Amino acid sequence: MQKIQNYINGKFADPQSGTYIDNYNPATGQVYSLIPDSDERDVEAAVQAAKKAFPAWSGMRSEDRSALLLRLSELIGKHLERFAVAESIDNGKPVWLARTVDIPRAVSNFHFYATAALHLSTETHAMGDVAINYTLRTPIGIAGCISPWNLPLYLFSWKIAPALASGNCVVAKPSEITPMTAYMLSEMAVEAGIPPGVLNIVHGYGTKVGKAIVAHPEIQAISFTGGTKTGEEISRIAAPMFKKLSLELGGKNPNIIFADCDFEKAVKTTVRSSFANQGEICLCGSRIFIERPLYEPFKEAFLAEVKKLKTGDPLDDGNWLGAIVSRPHMEKILHYIDLARHEGGKILSGGNRIQAGGIHAEGYFIEPTVIEGLPYDCRTNQEEIFGPVVTLQPFDTEEEVLRYANSTSYGLAATLWTQHLTRAHRVAARLHNGIVWVNCWLLRDLRTPFGGMKASGVGREGGFEALHFFTEEKNICIKL
Ligand code: NDP
Repeated sequence: MQKIQNYINGKFADPQSGTYIDNYNPATGQVYSLIPDSDERDVEAAVQAAKKAFPAWSGMRSEDRSALLLRLSELIGKHLERFAVAESIDNGKPVWLARTVDIPRAVSNFHFYATAALHLSTETHAMGDVAINYTLRTPIGIAGCISPWNLPLYLFSWKIAPALASGNCVVAKPSEITPMTAYMLSEMAVEAGIPPGVLNIVHGYGTKVGKAIVAHPEIQAISFTGGTKTGEEISRIAAPMFKKLSLELGGKNPNIIFADCDFEKAVKTTVRSSFANQGEICLCGSRIFIERPLYEPFKEAFLAEVKKLKTGDPLDDGNWLGAIVSRPHMEKILHYIDLARHEGGKILSGGNRIQAGGIHAEGYFIEPTVIEGLPYDCRTNQEEIFGPVVTLQPFDTEEEVLRYANSTSYGLAATLWTQHLTRAHRVAARLHNGIVWVNCWLLRDLRTPFGGMKASGVGREGGFEALHFFTEEKNICIKL
């Protein structure tokens, strides 16, 4: 059975504990590889390696760092299919999705930041003939990057790329549930010639490795993507140490459909934004609000599209949905479907675990589920489910739908469907979300600020925002 290893100081290493965690294939429910059960000793070794590597890496010309990161990007691209299959087996996502979204995006993340860092500049502020101020922007030192299981390499590289491109060394931890492509990335880092200690990847549990990264006094910045509860815990440890913190957390995103929308596009895209990656994308819309005159026709067309979605073996290109990432997560989703029933919801479609046959008999599959008849403020409509479950609800006025949409503690993304230009601007401005898509979904320009409001996070990733996060500014004032 394949054993994943830590990547510390340019070398592959067993965990100091000598123990390993089982890694499950969610489509079969079987253990298929082993993950290091690392602890604070492995994190310490990674920090020492990063510390040693930092002077040379941060002192390197940005063009030279850029060339190494471009090489890394090219290598992931060269092995795209291998990465896509590994991601699919590890996470349960359909291989077509990993092939067209996850892995190409990891390639782009490294490419984007390798080139963006070349354009990082600072300002000067002249005070007439009295003095001149100029700003230096320097890397922070060692950055801790912690990422979740839903878009494993995509989100891991979204943090690591800007941290490295701006001259920091990194100690990173992927989710212990989906470690495989992070391990493969360490192999590519060796091949790309990234100097030892610049990138260190320590595998294991969040409560051991993640916590040790967050608490380590020599790691001065933490970039975290994951659940809101974990974000709270991280803040409690990191804030008193005055670390820089970037937190991308949970969501409960509204989709608002006005009666004047482009009907066909709204239906098709809303099916995608509801069920892509089994609904396990922080940007998926899970509360669909439909203007009353369109409610019944939209519901009918939406359900007809949902019926066409095939769920099953993630490696079979004929399936649009794959497996849920883990047994506990599948159970959590099924629990929420029961809760929705209990709260008076009517299941219009799905609602059950799929018992597949053959090698997939123990796999974690759930039918895409559509529910109606629930009030906007019930638990099903307020808490993050993070699975293939959406609710439909009619509304009559803009005020009403804004009240529904803004009612949760979250504020990550929203989708708005209307052909009415001024309404689009008006409603978008009043939504409490960090990202609003009008007549589209998941259309991403990597230069734009990415992140959420309220319990969905603190700070923004993307573009120069991330390069700024991973650098410290210093103003130097020279008297003339
Ligand atoms: P978790 O918060 O459980 O885990 C995220 C990462 O943090 C994992 O690597 C985890 O390790 C680690 N971790 C867990 N506990 C700690 C701790 N005490 N200290 C440090 N690290 C810790 O999230 P999930 O992996 O379950 O991911 C799903 C969540 O991520 C959802 O809420 C989703 O909305 C959110 N998300 C947000 C995005 C955004 O951009 N806003 C994007 C994607 C997802 P381990 O796996 O071992 O527990």
